[in-house]
Amino acid sequence: MYANFRVTRDTASDFIRLFVNRRAFGMQAHKPLPNGKVPYFLAKDWTTKQPKPLDNDVVRMHLNGDVTINLYAINPETQRCKWVAIDGDFDGAVEALFKLQWELKQDGVEAAIEQSRRGGHLWIFAETPLLAAECRIYIYNLALRLGVPIVGGGLKQGIEVFPKQDTVEDGEYGNALRAPLGVHRKTNRRYWFYEASTEPEPQLAYLNGLKKLTEAELHTFIKGMTLPENYKPPVHEPYVPRPARDGQQEFRILDYVRPRTKDRRNWWAPCPSCRQAGKDKSGDNLAIQIANPRYYKCWAGCSADDIRLALGQPIRKKQMA
Ligand SMILES: [Zn+2]
Repeated sequence: MYANFRVTRDTASDFIRLFVNRRAFGMQAHKPLPNGKVPYFLAKDWTTKQPKPLDNDVVRMHLNGDVTINLYAINPETQRCKWVAIDGDFDGAVEALFKLQWELKQDGVEAAIEQSRRGGHLWIFAETPLLAAECRIYIYNLALRLGVPIVGGGLKQGIEVFPKQDTVEDGEYGNALRAPLGVHRKTNRRYWFYEASTEPEPQLAYLNGLKKLTEAELHTFIKGMTLPENYKPPVHEPYVPRPARDGQQEFRILDYVRPRTKDRRNWWAPCPSCRQAGKDKSGDNLAIQIANPRYYKCWAGCSADDIRLALGQPIRKKQMA
């Protein structure tokens, strides 16, 4: 079990200053689902159904251990973030995070490592909110230089960088990350930052004392750099449905699978072919391009033929006239 605290409004304000960059947030369910996951739900106002703004009271409940929240990195009004968090939960992740922390230190950037269930999160705080796209250029290039793998660009194992998007549009949220210093509902544990004693106040004092990354420094670090080629968002061809031929509608994958999640580029759905083989437990092996759902890909390697067969919709071979 975890310790409960009674933090003050000032402690919650400290937390907000460091971590809260937009007011929409998610709440973690109190109990795991049968599959063991403990999902987060976007917090909404009961009456208006609009996202509920995060306030001091909710942050206090999070720090006390009564609820658990997650946070979105990017503010859609500015496309900026107050922090960058690097999530590592693969074999060797903790070593990779310490390596990144050390390398950042060589740039004069003080980053803090928070423990997590299977690895850790490395946090960098900004003096003033920084463009998400520029933060990503910095971290992606740094990680690749050190040989630290990054998820995406064909890799499933590696660090994940939050903000996960360069920009989010109005009404979008991007990806959220569990807010630090609270209780993880899956393990009923708190995960603390190394280097400070394990209560909210000294933890926040430690984070407040770190040197913050300035925009001028960031600009120096990324001069002449772009996001590495493999990780650039693809340029989309616009989707124009083809007219029906021989009374046959064009095959549309979204008529057959129900996506579980969405990011800027893709819907993520269970792969029918993996499912048939008893795989894809997490139900997100199949990426379907949002801009043009004609393009879909199973990250476990099933071919389009496999997927269509599993759906009972085999690809029609071109027939001779
Ligand atoms: Zn598959």
